[in-house]
Amino acid sequence: MYDTEFRSRALGLVAAGMSLNAISDELGVSRAALRRWRDDPRGSSGGARPCPAPFTSTPAYAALFGYYLGDGCISRAARYHALRIACDAKLPAILADVASVVRAVHPDRPTHLVPAPGCISVQSNWKHWPCLFPQHGPGRKHERTLTMTSWQRAIVEEHPADFLRGLFHSDGSLVKNWATRMVAGERKRYEYPRWQFVNESHDIMRWCRETLDLVGVEYRQTNPRVLSVSRRADVARLTELIGIKQ
Ligand SMILES: [Zn+2]
Repeated sequence: MYDTEFRSRALGLVAAGMSLNAISDELGVSRAALRRWRDDPRGSSGGARPCPAPFTSTPAYAALFGYYLGDGCISRAARYHALRIACDAKLPAILADVASVVRAVHPDRPTHLVPAPGCISVQSNWKHWPCLFPQHGPGRKHERTLTMTSWQRAIVEEHPADFLRGLFHSDGSLVKNWATRMVAGERKRYEYPRWQFVNESHDIMRWCRETLDLVGVEYRQTNPRVLSVSRRADVARLTELIGIKQ
């Protein structure tokens, strides 16, 4: 296997007009390989495209990571892995967001919308999905210990709002609570919205807390699987960062 840099050096010499024979002698690579690279510089037909992990730090990856941890799964097919993110069919804006971040991370192949009862799965097939989400493994996410790679952590730290959008728009919700209060002898009813995040995995819950810390949003761990953001200023800040769920 030759790395990308080596290949682009060879292609540079081809572009400069050097003969394949001369390049073959110079770099010690066969003329057949040079011809293949010349005719298919991106390596799309030869399957020689290098693994994309560690992935470039992009907002789309950060969001997709959150969606994957929330409602995503990876399953193995014969020649690829299928990434599926289950989306609520009644929330078209989130469905569109998921489809767009999947496309941004893996633009070379089509993104499919697969209907299922009550939900629509966004599906993308790629052999590298387990490399991009090494949290993939047998069994359910909350039944095993998950670790974040250093490159994933760097991406989350660079794009915390996008990561939180993925987490909260899959396993979170904006709940409307109400309370009454006596004002000048009259009982008045107040509505106050509150963000809630529900996840069975201690690791995902911890990553959610750490990321909220990064953006300065306060929260309360109501119980091990439920976290809530209820102070008015924090609700407003989080909503501004991730948008409402629709
Ligand atoms: Zn890979």
